[in-house]
Amino acid sequence: MSEEKSLNFLEEIIEEDLKNGNYGQIVTRFPPEPNGYLHIGHAKSICLNFGLTQKYGGYTNLRFDDTNPVTEETEYVESIKADVEWLGFRWKHELYASDYFDQLYAFAVELIRKGLAYVDDSSSEAIAAMKGAPTQPGTDSPFRNRSVEENLGLFERMKNGEFADGSRTLRAKIDMSSPNMHMRDPVMYRIKHAHHHRTGDKWAIYPMYDFAHGQSDSIEKITHSICTLEFVPHRPLYDWFIEQLGIYPSKQYEMARLNLSYTIMSKRKLLELVNEKIVDGWDDPRMPTISGLRRRGFTPESIRNFCYMIGVAKRDNLIEVEKLEFCIREHLNKIALRKMVVFDPLKIVIINDEDPVDIVTVEDNPEDPSSGSREIPFSRTLYIEREDFMEDPPKKYNRLSPKQAVRLKGAYIIQCEEVIKDDTGLPVEIRCRYVPGSLSGADHSGIKPKGTLHWVSVEHAIPVELRLYDRLFNTEDPSSEEGDYKTYINKDSLQKIPGAHAEPSLLQAKFEDRYQFIRKGYFCLDKDTSASRIVFNRTSTLRDTWAKEVKKTN
Ligand code: ATP
Ligand code: MG
Repeated sequence: MSEEKSLNFLEEIIEEDLKNGNYGQIVTRFPPEPNGYLHIGHAKSICLNFGLTQKYGGYTNLRFDDTNPVTEETEYVESIKADVEWLGFRWKHELYASDYFDQLYAFAVELIRKGLAYVDDSSSEAIAAMKGAPTQPGTDSPFRNRSVEENLGLFERMKNGEFADGSRTLRAKIDMSSPNMHMRDPVMYRIKHAHHHRTGDKWAIYPMYDFAHGQSDSIEKITHSICTLEFVPHRPLYDWFIEQLGIYPSKQYEMARLNLSYTIMSKRKLLELVNEKIVDGWDDPRMPTISGLRRRGFTPESIRNFCYMIGVAKRDNLIEVEKLEFCIREHLNKIALRKMVVFDPLKIVIINDEDPVDIVTVEDNPEDPSSGSREIPFSRTLYIEREDFMEDPPKKYNRLSPKQAVRLKGAYIIQCEEVIKDDTGLPVEIRCRYVPGSLSGADHSGIKPKGTLHWVSVEHAIPVELRLYDRLFNTEDPSSEEGDYKTYINKDSLQKIPGAHAEPSLLQAKFEDRYQFIRKGYFCLDKDTSASRIVFNRTSTLRDTWAKEVKKTN
């Protein structure tokens, strides 16, 4: 999108910082936890973090926030890297919070030495109870005033794996009556005898988010650490650790998370959909994941444009999925190769004495003059869509009927002469005459038909399977509805069309190409395609004027 937009609040902050000479260059990071595949919400964060350093100079790190050994896997690390690259971004350093475990441990020891951290033997329930309530001060843990030596000894033994999971924690000693609950002696480390995807069995203790994230930012000299709004109350703690340790002063900034209508963004819930086989894996084309959108036929450009269009807000809201659909249509309209595919075939037989031409030429993409054209075989026996013929049509029906001629795309104008029906009265064959002299490009028939239909030649057409997708949920904001979000799943979100017929050029369809099946929608080749089966996914519909008409009259 080319129109100038005013600066978002982060750009304003950075421009001010640069003007004041606060930083030589801007350094940001994208910090996914490798516990799932990336979704469109992450794309917003990626576009923002990488976009800012592209715009202002500097670089962006990809940092895996892998401090929770139980939920993390290498498969996720690989998928995240592939998705960021596919979106079109290159990170400067690939980093792992787990690479900082030794450094973080040393930071913790330093805070103990300064009397700013202590080992607490209380259970998590007891700690929660002592936290108090926002309007009521908490109570000090009976272990709060342990000596530095005792804390150092216990913390080392925690590290050495001498204690059971959950039996002790390391807590920061801040303020048990702070109005900010996050400042009431937050837990820095917990004991977890768990295998980590990178550090193996080396550690029996793992740092909490609040003690890992800001310190990792600081180690990498991140200038602007961007996160989502729920971390606003964590910011004083973020600053506190950095200040007490006297390390590089990274700064945290918060923006609204992206919520998209008719879907969910929580990785935990998306994982549930995968595990319970409600969808066909993380890359199911109905998923809001980057890999799902990619398989569905979205382009990186369309997703980047979408992220740019929705901007960066400071207040949470629900973005309409129509905006995302607008962005993909806008891009595909420019680049998609036009093809003819009949979904629900009805036979047309040409009965003229004179043979029609064998081949017609159709342009590949009228929106792109450089795209050229292709030859499509024509014959006396064709398929058109069943819905493109009506014996007794209502007004404004611009398709074929006994009284109405139509043009076959790139070929002739045809007129219906006879309707052959089966026992149930269903038309099975329409005998037509083409108008002599009406061939596209050399038309001197003087007839101006109202509609143009797509078609395929029966003997040349190739059978294809089409998969049409609808929204995964049938309510706008499934996460905020009452009860289990899974009760709002749209059971009709996948429709398979088995008997479709495509023009023969689609035998050479490529995974990287995008297609517009004219009058039907945007499609791409699916990975389920094999030697015996060609499968296409519908990326999005086109807008159909007839559908709008039907709506108006209903
Ligand atoms: P989830 O709650 O779904 O697991 P998360 O926020 O824990 O998501 P992370 O892997 O920790 O996921 O996120 C990596 C980065 O992406 C973080 O900086 C986070 O703020 C950002 N992010 C995650 N979800 C969104 C979203 N919906 N909109 C914008 N940014 C997001
Ligand atoms: Mg997270």
